[in-house]
Amino acid sequence: MYKNILFATDLSQETEYLIKKVHGMRGYTGAKLNLIHVVEPLPGYSYAYLGIEDIEGQLIQESHDALAKLGEQLNVPADAQWVEVGPTKTKILQLAAKINADLVMCGSHGRHGLSLLLGSTANSVLHGAKCDVLMVRLPE
Ligand code: AMP
Repeated sequence: MYKNILFATDLSQETEYLIKKVHGMRGYTGAKLNLIHVVEPLPGYSYAYLGIEDIEGQLIQESHDALAKLGEQLNVPADAQWVEVGPTKTKILQLAAKINADLVMCGSHGRHGLSLLLGSTANSVLHGAKCDVLMVRLPE
């Protein structure tokens, strides 16, 4: 069965729904659990526009804090909590390969129209991962 799960979280309210499934899968498999949240770099002009000097630094710090809370909830040690900066899909796939994850878990919205054409993180991970992917359908 699975030995090393990577749970990709956008840290939104939907995380509460997802962690029940992640917790269940970890309990069932006895796998090690890793958490990743990706911070997408902001375009340079947003700094001047928002008048905040280091938005990215703040976002990274807030992500570390939020992931630490989630880590407490799910009993995941600090060395298995990952905050990465870059394109979300790429960073999730890179980390999955780096830590030899055998299952990536993420949420999936039912998509239609333009958002389906543009793709989604879940879609990109599903098609790019070298390991199994479990997409948890999020409630509408
Ligand atoms: P989306 O395709 O953006 O609606 O997101 C679907 C799922 O992709 C989320 O439920 C998360 O599991 C994952 N995800 C989206 N954004 C991020 C992010 N910034 N960091 C890590 N995982 C993410």
